[in-house]
Formats: sequence, structure tokens, C-alpha cells
Amino acid sequence: MAKDTAESSESSLSPPPEDLIIPAESEVIAKSTAHGRKRKAEATVTTTVTTTKRTKKVPAADANDEKIGTAETPRKKRTTAKNVKHDEDGDDAEGEESTVVKKAVKQKVIRTKNSKEPVQPLEERSADTKLRIGAHVSVAGGVHNAIPNLLHIGANAFAMFMKNQRKWDNPPMDPEHATLFINGCKDHNIEVGDCCLPHSSYLVNLAHPDAERKKQAYDCFQNDLVRCNKLGIRLYNFHPGNANATTREEGIKLIAENLNRAHADPETGSVITVLETMASLGNTIGGTFEDIAAIISHVEKKERVGVCLDTCHVFAAGYDLRTPETYAEVMKQFDDIIGLEYLMALHVNDSKAPLASYRDLHARIGTGYLGLRAFHNLVNDERLHGMPMVLETPVDSVDANGKKFEDKSIWAREIKMLERLVGMDVESDEFKKLEQTLREQGEGERERIGGQVERKKVKDAKPKVVRKKKAKDEENEELDGGKEEKPKRAAPKRKAAAKKVKNEEESADDDE
Ligand SMILES: [Zn+2]
Ligand SMILES: [Zn+2]
Repeated sequence: MAKDTAESSESSLSPPPEDLIIPAESEVIAKSTAHGRKRKAEATVTTTVTTTKRTKKVPAADANDEKIGTAETPRKKRTTAKNVKHDEDGDDAEGEESTVVKKAVKQKVIRTKNSKEPVQPLEERSADTKLRIGAHVSVAGGVHNAIPNLLHIGANAFAMFMKNQRKWDNPPMDPEHATLFINGCKDHNIEVGDCCLPHSSYLVNLAHPDAERKKQAYDCFQNDLVRCNKLGIRLYNFHPGNANATTREEGIKLIAENLNRAHADPETGSVITVLETMASLGNTIGGTFEDIAAIISHVEKKERVGVCLDTCHVFAAGYDLRTPETYAEVMKQFDDIIGLEYLMALHVNDSKAPLASYRDLHARIGTGYLGLRAFHNLVNDERLHGMPMVLETPVDSVDANGKKFEDKSIWAREIKMLERLVGMDVESDEFKKLEQTLREQGEGERERIGGQVERKKVKDAKPKVVRKKKAKDEENEELDGGKEEKPKRAAPKRKAAAKKVKNEEESADDDE
């Protein structure tokens, strides 16, 4: 059934069927294709390109397994990492292959792990699109593996982690992996300076005042920037930080101080440090446009700083993107407060939680409280064309045997759908049908999370649960990157309360 799923991208936007045993892509080996070279030629619909290519054997996965779209408990995390490793490190597909690509027919040869039988790719990269859209891809096995992973879902932009995002280690980048990455980008016409937006480690908090913590965070951050510079990556996205251990004003200054130091380091080249807009309240920095503007105001080299607007985060933080009017108003606010010249990238996620709920819960496009119309507003805004747009939507699925897997065909379909939204008439049957279908798919999750948010509002209105609310706030902050803070800050009772709240809502999985 995997084949059917992969092929159904134009017509079916529904979640994978329950009898889906294993998705094509989880068996597919990182395999080069004739993609990039044909991007320009693809403008004519029936262009046929034949390429022969030798692909290097992919080394065994290292500690770079990673995942995005849902935050998980460490235990769940490890399970996922194991699965990813299992899925991605068993490359036996060595040797030559001929790939005949015809846009209309879409035939691309990718070999499965245990078989020389070709399988269908998920999607081709679009050449005739105004958007640069993609997803956060895995670099399990090395940074070069981002390339086959992005080609596989038809992405024209991508995010990745530069190293293990849950560890403080800063090992040197494997030079062979770096060479493979750089050559792979050339081979596939991937303009890495324009379409790649790596994501920082979740551990780094550049707003930490403690000398030791500050050094640890800076070193990890700087190491990522050096890696970007070596790979020709121009943009680097990071969470600004949190003021758990200091005041907001001081935290903002500390972030800028770290940025100035990094910008002055020749090893970081001219990599642009891109601040991500955040969802949360509390001590998280970056939940308002004012926070972002304040950081930028303290940055000396303005050409080295940018902003990534996360649609889910800003919506959760109270910025409404749903109608053309509210969308225009938010963009005007962005321009007035920060300056649109700083907007360099987008994280494209729907939201399972309502407007101004301060919950970071990514939903698949069109299934959340933002809805398809918000994304129609976004992709039809010409000011955003050419910027990397990265999907961090949940792709977790469960197969017939109850085994979890990441169904990356969801991203492949979302990419194509968003590309199709450009110029689509919102009054057309096509749009209305699509909007309705997706809205229905997300109904259950919207009700569930919406109910949680409402109940929390009611609880918070009562004085007796103030302690619990505080604990929950800390929990939220923790999820936003301040993990190391919590054991020190939370008194045992509050910790227990936080845990209880967390357990109640664990299935909600706040994202990052
Ligand atoms: Zn998020
Ligand atoms: Zn993020």
C-alpha cells in the first residue's frame, strides 16, 4: 500500500490508511537522482532527462538521528532514533543506475534496502514554482544524507540539525561528509545558500547569565555556525532563549552579546543568525515581535541577523494569520516593529491550539486552527517568494502492527499542495473542497486541544490553582529549550504538579 500512498499525492490528502504497512521512504535508501540538473529544464512539461549516476555507500548512522515536528519524552525519543537509524543506515544500494525522469510520468529509480527492485519516489522537486518549500530532514549518518532525504520528498528548501541537537558535544565535522554534502548540492542544483535553514540545538540558551552555562551555549552555537560556513550555508535558525535565570531585558542583551561575539569571529564567515519567533509566554524570549526587535537593536552587524517566522508559533502567540485582512495586519506589525527586511525564512506549520493559546503544537497544514486559508495568504504573498519555507508538521504514523514510523509522504504531499495554492482562487471548488477535507481531518485534534485550552483558562481563573499554573508555565518554558534549568528551579511540590499537568497533556506533545 506504500506505493499507493506515494502515488496518491494529487488526490488524497488524508492521513495514511491504517493498513499502511511501511512507507516507501522508510525503506528507501539515500539515493542520488537526476533531480537538480533538470530543475531548469523542467519548465517545459514533457522534457525528458536521462542521467547515469554513481552513488557512494552511506556510512552507518552516527549520533545524528534527529526528529522534529513533535516533542517527545526522552524515552520515546530514543525509540524513534533507533527506528530512524534502522531505517536509514542499512544502505546496500551501491552501484550504477539509470534514471529516466519525465515530469508528467514521474519515474525515478530508488532502490529499497533489501531489494534491487525500483520503487516510486514520493514526489519530484517542482521547477515551475515561485516557492522554495521543503521540510526538516534527517541527517542520520552524516550531513550529506540531507540531500537524498530532501530529494525524496520533492523539497526545494530544507532544514536540518548540524549535529546531535540533544547533546552538548561539538565534535569536528567529518570532512568526507562535508565534501559529499557540497558535491551533492552541486550535482542536484541545490542552492544551499538560499534554500537551507539549519535548526539550532534545543539545549542552547544564549540568554543564560551564568559564566559556565554561557560558555557551553556559545561554544555549541559557534560550532554550528562554523559548520554552516564550511558547507556554504548562509542562514542559521535558532531559538532566541529564555530568561529563566535572569530578567527579560538582561536576557535580550545577553543574546545580542553572544551574537556580536559570533559575528566577530572570522570562522563563522558571513553566516546570518536567524531568530525564530516563539509561541510561549512566560520567560521565553521571542514570543513577541518586540522581543525580536529588541535583540536586533543590540546587534552590531545588522547584516548578520535575520528572522524566521513560524506560523504556528506566531498564531499561538496571538498573531492572527487566518484572513487576508488579519494576515496583512500581522505583516504590517512585523514591518513596523521589526522590519520586513529582516524576514528571511518561514517555518510553515498549522496549529493544533487556538489563537493566543501560547501552546506550541504543530498540526498538518490545513488541519489546525490556522486552516488552509492562512497558508493561501502566506504562499500568495510575493514578498515571501524565494525564502526558505520549512515544514515541521507532524508525520508520525502507526502501521498495522502498531509500530510507529515517520510517514514522510505527508511532507511530500504538503509541499505539492502549498505550491498548488499559489494563484489558486479561494472561491474555486478546488480550494473549497481541499479546505473542507483538511478541516474535517483535524476536527478531533482541534476539539481535544481546544478543550484543554478552555479548561486551563477556567482553572487559571480560580485562585487555588495558581501554583499549578506556575508549574505548567515552567514546563512550557522547559520545552522551549531551557531543559537544564528546571531541576534547579522547581521545588519538589511544583515539580510534581508540573509532572501531573504534563501527564494530563502529554499526548499533546508541545513542539519546538
Ligand atoms: Zn514549534
Ligand atoms: Zn524551532
